[in-house]
Amino acid sequence: MRLLRMSTLFLRTLREDPADAEVPSHRLLVRAGYIRRAAPGGYTFLPLGKLVLDRIAELVRAEMTAIGGQEVHFPALLPAEPYQTSGRWTEYGEDIFRLQDRRGAEHLLAPTHEEMVTLLVKDLYSSYRDYPVTLYQIQTKFRNEARPRGGLLRGREFLMKDSYSFDLDGAGLEDSYAAHRAAYQRIFDRLELTYTTVAALSGAMGGSRSEEFLAEAPAGEDTFVGCTTCGYAANTEAVTTPAPEPTDPASAPPMQVHDTPDTPTIETLVDMANARELGGRDDWTAADTLKNVAVEVRGPGAPEADLLVIGVPGDRDVDLKRLGAVLHPATVTMFEDWPARPELVRGYLGPQVLGKAGVRYLVDPRVAPGTAWLTGANEPGRHATGVVCGRDFTPDGTIEAATVRAGDPCPACSQGALEIRRGIEVGHVFQLGRRFADAFGLDALGPDGAPIRVTMGCYGLGISRVMAAVAEQHHDDAGLVWPAAIAPCDVHLVPTGAAQLAAAEQLAETLTGAGLRVLLDDRPGVSAGVKFTDAELLGVPRVLVLGRRLAEGYAELRTRASSERADLPLADLPAVLAPRRPS
Ligand code: ATP
Ligand code: MG
Repeated sequence: MRLLRMSTLFLRTLREDPADAEVPSHRLLVRAGYIRRAAPGGYTFLPLGKLVLDRIAELVRAEMTAIGGQEVHFPALLPAEPYQTSGRWTEYGEDIFRLQDRRGAEHLLAPTHEEMVTLLVKDLYSSYRDYPVTLYQIQTKFRNEARPRGGLLRGREFLMKDSYSFDLDGAGLEDSYAAHRAAYQRIFDRLELTYTTVAALSGAMGGSRSEEFLAEAPAGEDTFVGCTTCGYAANTEAVTTPAPEPTDPASAPPMQVHDTPDTPTIETLVDMANARELGGRDDWTAADTLKNVAVEVRGPGAPEADLLVIGVPGDRDVDLKRLGAVLHPATVTMFEDWPARPELVRGYLGPQVLGKAGVRYLVDPRVAPGTAWLTGANEPGRHATGVVCGRDFTPDGTIEAATVRAGDPCPACSQGALEIRRGIEVGHVFQLGRRFADAFGLDALGPDGAPIRVTMGCYGLGISRVMAAVAEQHHDDAGLVWPAAIAPCDVHLVPTGAAQLAAAEQLAETLTGAGLRVLLDDRPGVSAGVKFTDAELLGVPRVLVLGRRLAEGYAELRTRASSERADLPLADLPAVLAPRRPS
């Protein structure tokens, strides 16, 4: 379909923002009639929306084909068994939709397809000569998201491109990974997205190298950090904290316990410590105190939760997102049952007692051996100074769970400082390694007859989320501004009145004949003003106005992105608007 007519197009534009829309892409995609909410986290694509979605999918498909990917299509409704074998049936917890068939057999709506694709390759391939291979699909995915939000940004049902590479060794995996990474860069460049590639933790998968592509936008849910000096960028979950050099704990002054009544917060504690010159100092800051946070950690399917105390400098908090990422797939909740552990004094917890109490204690890397702290004395109303790591307490290890702040030192260049940015995760490339090959016994028979365990990569790209991310980056107050590569049409033809309609029809025919996708506003009785307003809202990159100067043989070309206007002779139009892609 190359010519779309506004008179018959299944479209209603809205002048008002939908009440439930908080972010620009959601607001504008609904107002401009691209999508319509059908269910919590579920959207119907209207004709214009479907055109954009298909163009994104087509662009991604072309780049996947270019790196040798072969398209397959799995069912979304799957039996639980392969996911039980891999362990993800339990690991996913509440994040997936589970259902039973009429016989009561457990099923799920697939969140991704590592299990199925591993089984498929195992089913058909046996020799080392068969490898490498990359399979991909563009498919509707289901996730029982806790908080669907932002229209297409986070749905419970959404369109994803997921590919999977299979190689015989690490070098092969590196190549497949690099090919995908480069393809993703080409895709996001063609989509005119401004994005950053950040090192990511592997989340639910468990593997080695992993990067996320974050499209910068205030509406993004991912905060990431970037260095003000070097090119370093990383997910907050992946930031590493430079540790100070360890010093000899024995040389530090001895620990002293002080009465510190009415100091419920770090701030009140620091004030009192300075007022009373505890430990002979009056320059205490929150960063000199050691905050101990008690949490409960429950492994997937584990009957009991384990108590864990985390020590961070008192000017920071434990960042639950970072903590969750490090401890994944275990889940974390705050420890509440203080009466059950009387040796732990709420509000005055210090690490001095944890070893004896048999409680696991992990510290921020800044809590290095030899550092001295002001912390709880494990008695109500009392704190201790000179509590030295490695002398007065011995942590079980370090953990990256403290809040990351703007101004923190860059772990890559150690000269620059970090700043906090926001982005939308549009793609994720990930070296899975042998986790799924191990789970399903995927081996290739080697040249010497010995089996070779296959190594995998997986690569996700959110097709529907990309549509929202592009809208986030390409819009203005009047509406959407589509990049040419994925616009629903190339040209929006606006005859200002009935007198210009016949010429517009003819022009539409010429332009479609030249391979352009044309949207013609042939609505009878609609004012030029309304047509212009709608054209800006819909965001087709070029608007061609047939108005007063038509009689002289001129049309006005308006460029949506730059608001430039130029009067052009009708005869020049097919050449000026030359199609980007041959038909
Ligand atoms: P997020 O951290 O945003 O929840 P994820 O890490 O769970 O995403 P992946 O499992 O890596 O996502 O999925 C691959 C891609 O699918 C993501 O990079 C994103 O573009 C897209 N995606 C994931 N979840 C959703 C969703 N709920 N709605 C729309 N797109 C999604
Ligand atoms: Mg991800």
